[in-house]
Amino acid sequence: MALIVHKYGGTSMGSTDRIKNVAARVAKWHDAGHQIVVVPSAMSGETNRLIGLAKAIMDQPDPRELDMIASTGEQVSVGLLAMALLAIGKDAVSYTGWQVGIRTDSSFTKARIQSIDDSRVRSDLEAGKIVIITGFQGVDEQGNISTLGRGGSDTSAVAIAAALKADECLIYTDVDGVYTTDPRVVDEARRLEKITFEEMLELASLGSKVLQTRSVEFAGNYQVPTRVLSSLTDPLMPLAEEANSGTLISFEEETNMEQAVISGIAFHRDEAKITVLGVPDKPGVAFHILGPVSDANIEVDMIIQNQSVDGKTDFTFTVSRGDYQRALAVLESQKDVLGYTRVVGDAKVSKVSAVGVGMRSHVGVASQMFRTLADENINIMMISTSEIKISVLIDEKYMELAVRALHKAFDLEKA
Ligand code: ASP
Ligand code: MG
Repeated sequence: MALIVHKYGGTSMGSTDRIKNVAARVAKWHDAGHQIVVVPSAMSGETNRLIGLAKAIMDQPDPRELDMIASTGEQVSVGLLAMALLAIGKDAVSYTGWQVGIRTDSSFTKARIQSIDDSRVRSDLEAGKIVIITGFQGVDEQGNISTLGRGGSDTSAVAIAAALKADECLIYTDVDGVYTTDPRVVDEARRLEKITFEEMLELASLGSKVLQTRSVEFAGNYQVPTRVLSSLTDPLMPLAEEANSGTLISFEEETNMEQAVISGIAFHRDEAKITVLGVPDKPGVAFHILGPVSDANIEVDMIIQNQSVDGKTDFTFTVSRGDYQRALAVLESQKDVLGYTRVVGDAKVSKVSAVGVGMRSHVGVASQMFRTLADENINIMMISTSEIKISVLIDEKYMELAVRALHKAFDLEKA
């Protein structure tokens, strides 16, 4: 017998028929002798609808009241799923976040989980019940309802699995796993059977955002074995087969020499780069340029400072394309303070990254990546690296070509 947390996304919970399918699948796992906790999202489209209602009343909805409204989608889901289970003769009970002590901080609309009181859930499980807990929501110290940010049910599920020391957290979703790259860009993209949580963090941009990034951090920090798998299969498929499907996010690194060096090629299409030319090179330059940008809540990704010439330097950084104009405006407003000559930018750039823990033990990955891009005549504008990732910034026009060429160069189409 194992303790297993199932998480079902909005699509999986999208209609009453689909909820009945979820119930059938959950019942199958329970019948096999496992203790099951289910964490569902709101029915697809529901959270958007609720936020829309709030915005129709108030342009910038009050965050506390917005969470009061947005959290209700999940409350409907858990009740419906509990009924679907009761209707087929299973003993099930549903709870909201506050009823099982999912304590968060008070940053409404993006709250962080601080603790979970597992006593009530444990005693229900001991009594043989299937326990269903709302995803996405919690309660702060003052008893206010909070939500964890869009896509937050993934984080709820992994956090609940961590608190209960579950044997595995199964994230059922509308894709059948994590791929070597977006199959819409590369036909030969392949599903990975296993990936480390560090790689998963780096690949979070792949295809449809498979998991909320914070849930992956949680899985890593608390060592929760987490599997992404499809909810669109036959709910009655053999359990052993289902248990091995999808992609397992693990925290063990393969020592297997056969393991591919690179696990996947990730990309961010919508990037922009900004160069501040002729800034006096003195202590605090980077801080004075990037401080105001970050105060404006703009996230900076890649950064390069050039060698200085005659006491002046050029400073280049990237932001997501949606923040480009705002970042330019911030720099414009700082012109006198910064004393630069000119600001130039390019909002038609993309980032392509090769990711793999194998890089730690293999040399030559960077040179192979650069050779592949050179062979395709693709110019590299910026490079950044981490222990398990190499990223390049290139002209947006060549992004798909670069992804395809790298996928091939690193043999990712081969199992
Ligand atoms: N229902 C919430 C959302 O749409 C949380 C989730 O689905 O994970 O963002
Ligand atoms: Mg989701």
